[in-house]
Order: sequence, then C-alpha cells, then structure tokens
Amino acid sequence: MIAQADIGLLDGFERALINGRLRMAYQPKVSLSDGRLRRVEALVRWDDPSLGAVPPSRFVPLAEKHGLIDELTQWGLRTTLRQWLSWREDGLDTCLAFNISALSLDQLDFPDLVERMCRALDVPTDRLVLELTEGATQPLVKLMDTLTRFRIKGIGLAIDDFGVGYSTLMQLRQLPFTELKIDRFFIEDAPSSKESALIVKSIIDLAHGLGLTVTAEGVETEDQLRLLRDLGCDVAQGYFVARPLEPKQLIPWLDEFEER
Ligand code: C2E
Ligand code: CA
Ligand code: CA
Ligand code: CA
Repeated sequence: MIAQADIGLLDGFERALINGRLRMAYQPKVSLSDGRLRRVEALVRWDDPSLGAVPPSRFVPLAEKHGLIDELTQWGLRTTLRQWLSWREDGLDTCLAFNISALSLDQLDFPDLVERMCRALDVPTDRLVLELTEGATQPLVKLMDTLTRFRIKGIGLAIDDFGVGYSTLMQLRQLPFTELKIDRFFIEDAPSSKESALIVKSIIDLAHGLGLTVTAEGVETEDQLRLLRDLGCDVAQGYFVARPLEPKQLIPWLDEFEER
C-alpha cells in the first residue's frame, strides 16, 4: 500500500530525477587537530517548483521503497565525481563522502560498479568514502563480503549515525570500516550533560581502539567543538563549521575558513 500523499511525491521525485532537476550540496568535514578540510559530504537536494525544498528524509525512503534508489545513487555519484574533477581543476584535491543506501549493498557487483564509475572519470578510488547506515538488513557474512570488496579497491567506509541506528558493537568489530560518525543526538547536549559527554568519550575511545577515524556530526556551537577536541575526536561536521554548500561556494568558504 502506498499512501495517497506519497503518490504525488513519488511522481514528482521521479520526474525530477529523470529531468535532471536534483542537485547535490556539499558539507565540509574538518580536522579538529589542525582545522584543515578533510573531506566534503555530498547531500542530495530537491527543490520542487510547487512543493518547495523537499528534504531527503522524505524522498530517499520513497526511492528505496519504489525501485528508484539505484538511479538516484548512480546519478548522485556521477554528479559528485564530476564535481571533484571540477574542484581539482581549481586546485582543490579533497576527499568525498557519499551516502549509500543499505539496499545497494544487496548487489554483489555494486563495488565493481562504483569502481568503474571512478575509473571512467579518472577519480582515484582512495578519494572516496562511502557512508552507510543500518547495516542489519542482511546476513553479516554477505555484508562482510561486499564491504571487503570496497576496501580492496581502496574505497573508505564510514558507519553513519552511530549510536542511534541498528549498528551493533559486533558489526563494528567484524566489518572493515575506516571511520565512525557519532550521531548528532549525542553531540547536542554533550557540553551540558555529563552522561552524554561520557558516552561521546567512550565512543571515541572505542573507535580509536579499533583503528577508526571519528567524526562528530551536527556540531552547532563552539562549546561542542572545544569539548570534542578535548575528548580527542578527529573530525567535526556541522553548521558551526559550515552548512551544506553549493559547489561554487566551497573554495571561497575554504579560503575564508583557513584565514580564521
Ligand atoms: P546524514 O547522512 O546523517 O547527513 C547529515 C544530515 O544532517 C544532513 O541532512 C545535513 O544537512 C544535516 N546537518 C549537517 N550539519 C548539521 C547541524 O549542525 N545541525 C543539524 N540539525 N543538522 C545538520 P539532510 O541533507 O537533510 O540529509 C538527511 C539524510 O538523508 C542524510 O543523513 C542521509 O541519510 C540521507 N541522504 C542525504 N543525501 C543522500 C544521498 O545522496 N543518498 C542517500 N542514499 N541518502 C542521502
Ligand atoms: Ca552521512
Ligand atoms: Ca549521519
Ligand atoms: Ca541520518
């Protein structure tokens, strides 16, 4: 069953996808030790003439449910890789973070497809990190197989929204992740709540013990940033550092940010 309200939305989304009316925004992730740009996360945007800006939390699940996620992923990745080339022409060689639906991981040839797309555009695979949530949709052995294929190709793997999703400590230990992103929920009140700060610290120590880079999501205040640095967190991402930017805003933002 598909809800009445979703039919119009799905229809509009499909048309936007086909007619090239989606776009990507890019949010900087910066190193807490030296303040340098570590990578940019690609986030899909849909501005509909009549509906306005529709958030991905509304249409990504619809795309997943109705067989459009592969098209969305391929369009998004191609757009993001092309953007990387354009930034590199302007002298910026950074890394990309790209969100992948857990559904895509069901296809055993998906890592090959991603590698082919990188090769076709001449983007080195080590410039790409895939961000994954909710890994629990399939048996661990199968997931392990797919994820290992990515790692062999030099592609990084981040576990997204850590602490609120289905990710378990078991998966964290067994799967070949390179980065862990602490969900914004824990970052929000970390400066005011001893308990949240303790949880954040424990996650950071745990992740470091497992050899993972740690990113804090949703950093909105200077207090949060300072605390995270004190707790040994590696990377910060959030409105305090930068909002998701238009492609052409990134280099001017970086010039200004590095002067601070
Ligand atoms: P996510 O991967 O956890 O992305 C972070 C979300 O937090 C983004 O929302 C971002 O705009 C927002 N954000 C960043 N900094 C802050 C902050 O300081 N405060 C607050 N309150 N929010 C912040 P967005 O762009 O609406 O995306 C929502 C989710 O949709 C993403 O969560 C991701 O799961 C999914 N998504 C976005 N783009 C794509 C895509 O291209 N493909 C797929 N499969 N999923 C995507
Ligand atoms: Ca993400
Ligand atoms: Ca996240
Ligand atoms: Ca999320």
